[in-house]
Amino acid sequence: MSAWTEIGDRVFVRRYAFYDQNIGVVLGDDGVLVIDTRVSLRQAREILADLRALTPLPVAAVVNTHGHSDHAFGNAAFRPVPIWGHIRCATMVTETGDRQRAATAAAIPELADELAEVVLDPPDRTFETEATVAFDAGGRIVELRYLGRGHTDNDAVVIVPDARVLFAGDLLENDATPYFGDGFPIDWPATVERLVELVTDVVVPGHGTIGDRSFAVRQMTEFRTVAELATLVHHGTLDLDLAVLRTPYPADEAREPLTRALAQLRGELD
Ligand SMILES: [Zn+2]
Repeated sequence: MSAWTEIGDRVFVRRYAFYDQNIGVVLGDDGVLVIDTRVSLRQAREILADLRALTPLPVAAVVNTHGHSDHAFGNAAFRPVPIWGHIRCATMVTETGDRQRAATAAAIPELADELAEVVLDPPDRTFETEATVAFDAGGRIVELRYLGRGHTDNDAVVIVPDARVLFAGDLLENDATPYFGDGFPIDWPATVERLVELVTDVVVPGHGTIGDRSFAVRQMTEFRTVAELATLVHHGTLDLDLAVLRTPYPADEAREPLTRALAQLRGELD
């Protein structure tokens, strides 16, 4: 869609048309960090080729913001560099990777061949809940934080303190209804509230237009609306069909978030 955009000092984003996905790059002194790896080895190799337009430096490290296919299926193309992610991101890739592969191939048949060649390669540098991990990516300090369940149970945010940039993964998505299929809609608002507290200048959603703190606050409010509507439905004080009309999302896309929230309220996701 477009070339690299510098969103902070030596921090870049490239917005790929496929899934309208944002891939982040942090330039260090002697290596670069890549944030998320796209849905196939072909797409990952496209990142590597596009990187050559930006820098001659080698990739020093990779982060997976969570274990969804479009964020982790390209991992093998970056080896042998270390790949960071939450401990349950590794679990998600290992345990649900083949299911995700089949579901994506069914949804997008023209992608089936390249999905078939994906070698599941989960993060090998993992961290546990509520952790802050700071590591050196080619001479640049970045932080990883787990803030609680939201889009998945393994969302990590990436903070580049000296550039005042935060990569939100799919805890935030812009320009489209967020994907709730593996989410925890009742926990999501509080998780994003913690994210908002960490925002300084720039916020990069996993998909869609880059934002700022007010964008993150707006999304937090929308997630809270979904959780509150679902709670009313759960208690029998609001009809589901009415709740669908009151979410921030198009009516034909609002049923999934509410259905998922109701499942969580019934204790079915634990
Ligand atoms: Zn995702």
